[in-house]
Amino acid sequence: MNVSFLGLGAIGAPMARHLAKSPFVLSVWNRTAERARAFGESTGARVAESPADAARNAAVVITCLPTSREVEALLDGEQGLLAGVASGSLFIDCTSGDPTTSRRIASRLAERGIAFMDAPVSGGVSGANQGTLTVMCGADPDTLERARPVLEAFGKKIVLCGPVGSGDAVKAVNQALLGIHIWALSEGLVALSKAGVSASVALDVINASSGRSNVSQNLFTERVVTRAFPRTFKLALLEKDVTIAAEFTRENRVPSPLTQAAADLLRVARAELGEEADHVEAVKLIERWAGCEVTG
Ligand code: NDP
Repeated sequence: MNVSFLGLGAIGAPMARHLAKSPFVLSVWNRTAERARAFGESTGARVAESPADAARNAAVVITCLPTSREVEALLDGEQGLLAGVASGSLFIDCTSGDPTTSRRIASRLAERGIAFMDAPVSGGVSGANQGTLTVMCGADPDTLERARPVLEAFGKKIVLCGPVGSGDAVKAVNQALLGIHIWALSEGLVALSKAGVSASVALDVINASSGRSNVSQNLFTERVVTRAFPRTFKLALLEKDVTIAAEFTRENRVPSPLTQAAADLLRVARAELGEEADHVEAVKLIERWAGCEVTG
């Protein structure tokens, strides 16, 4: 079966690498062509010249781009996906997208007999490398069953969340929790450092107590205490995700002051720390404001 993958970024590339090792025949496309060429050389995947070329003859087309906006923009034009994608094929969007745009894309594709599902992932670059991602699916059950063999190449836990848009919504809520945990733990650890308690000692206690989270157990232990700050998931993308969560709660008329505040604070952090900063680097903004670095 021919599968095409568009968007060989930090998480897309390791996801696509699993597909290249699977029995599927893989074509790839990336906006910066050099990345696609290097990927093709190292995996044997066919390098497509355009989105239309990637989609041609593909039974399944997968996208993994920053936002739903970029996915929608890839549909149109002479070289766009719609110029190549065949009726009867399946479009899987692994972007952490927004439910409204995903529903709009799904209805445009349905007019041409193409099935769509939103399938954002979690587990980070390490989960993508290991092929153990969680995949949150927004689709009807039959579409998910068609997609499952492809998703299993990089996903370990594959969950049907509900109709189109539901995967995006669950992902956004998860990301709001991630953002809130990063922000709250940053505030606490900077205050503790200022008061003379080292972060290692504080995290040792928190990680054996009820305040622990993935942020305290893994992210801060490996990245903040060590000051390593590897760039695996952009702060800009987390800000985008939490903004989607804030819009989602508002649209559903649920009072959500915490989610709105997290979105606002991450927007400030993105502006201050730049487009290339990693999400965990948000702690640096609180350190700046407090005039005190977290001490290991
Ligand atoms: P990156 O910024 O590393 O990569 C983005 C990819 O999208 C690149 O291939 C880039 O191409 C392409 N792209 C950007 N703008 C456009 C455009 N206008 N048209 C076409 N292609 C474009 O992002 P990630 O791989 O980290 O993230 C991708 C998605 O996955 C996001 O929605 C993110 O939230 C989500 N995600 C990321 C995780 C992570 O740990 N990194 C974890 C879970 C989800 P180019 O090479 O030309 O820049």
